[in-house]
Amino acid sequence: MGVHLDLEPFQFDGVPTGRPLVIAGPCSAESKEQVMSTATQLKEMGIQIFRAGIWKPRTRPNTFEGVGIEGLHWLKKVQHELGMLTATEVANANHVFEALKCNVDILWIGARTTANPFAVQEIADALNGVHIPVMIKNPVNPDVELWIGAFERLNQAGIKKLAAIHRGFSSYGKTLYRNDPHWQIPIELKRRIPNVPMITDPSHICGNRDMLLEVSQEAMDLNFEGLIVETHCNPEKALSDASQQITPKEFSVLLSKLILRQATVDNTAISHSLEDLRAQVDKFDDNLLEILCKRMQVSDRIGMVKKENNITVLQSGRWNQLLTKRIQDGVSRGLSEDFVAKVFRAIHEESINHQMKIMND
Ligand code: PEP
Ligand code: MN
Repeated sequence: MGVHLDLEPFQFDGVPTGRPLVIAGPCSAESKEQVMSTATQLKEMGIQIFRAGIWKPRTRPNTFEGVGIEGLHWLKKVQHELGMLTATEVANANHVFEALKCNVDILWIGARTTANPFAVQEIADALNGVHIPVMIKNPVNPDVELWIGAFERLNQAGIKKLAAIHRGFSSYGKTLYRNDPHWQIPIELKRRIPNVPMITDPSHICGNRDMLLEVSQEAMDLNFEGLIVETHCNPEKALSDASQQITPKEFSVLLSKLILRQATVDNTAISHSLEDLRAQVDKFDDNLLEILCKRMQVSDRIGMVKKENNITVLQSGRWNQLLTKRIQDGVSRGLSEDFVAKVFRAIHEESINHQMKIMND
């Protein structure tokens, strides 16, 4: 199911159109000096779009919640003195009103806000008829429909320059990431809205400095269009998200290490060898479908026997044995445990659906 949005290219005068589109700046604007020092260093690196949070959505109260309107004037200074474009987060109609009054160039909707359709609609209504680019962060929960809904609301309000920010998804307990990237979700958003640029936010995905390069590289290898990275002139002293911010110099090193691969193949020999390999994949996928179909027919017959003899659909012991055996066999063939488990869980789920239908028909 495609989503039809009326979009304009997410491009700006003076900002190079090649990948990656780079946006950088501190998590929060903290002082005029911090804003100007960070922005000046970024500008010297050739970065044209400066981010800084003015109103900060914090998980717990009694922490730094942003400097508010005063910070918008520091962004104005960045615009006027350094000629950079400025971007900030808005979470309600009042933020929109204040940001527009101070001529902020680009707005973004934060992850907690995207998860709330009332808030997104309020922002869309406040922006009705205004021509300003808006970036929409993925919602904190892994729900692509909610993310798409926010695009629809903004687009229906007449906003045509829209971009997506992929900042990862919350999960319970301690994991490798602060917010799990679930790459399949931004991939699905791009499948559903192909012309929307995807800007990855490795800072909020990682929550630390160590994995920023790895995650940025993954985004580039997926042909995503941009990166938004939290940079601070003195990260250790940052008032929010200190552990994930890097200095402009460190960011410059990260950018120089990125490998940018081409998105299309223009060499005929390479394109032929890819075609050949893809033909093999098509054939194997066809065989897989044929086998899955036959397997489900056998599941149906098992379902009939269970029905006739009044036996429950789920046989937990058998399922446990089967899964353990398939994982063993798959791993010994060089497949990952995670992958084999996922495949057989999906097959088993479908098999249960088939048998439930037979039981209750
Ligand atoms: C931010 O960009 O600083 C921010 C608050 O991000 P998110 O909405 O992704 O948590
Ligand atoms: Mn932050």
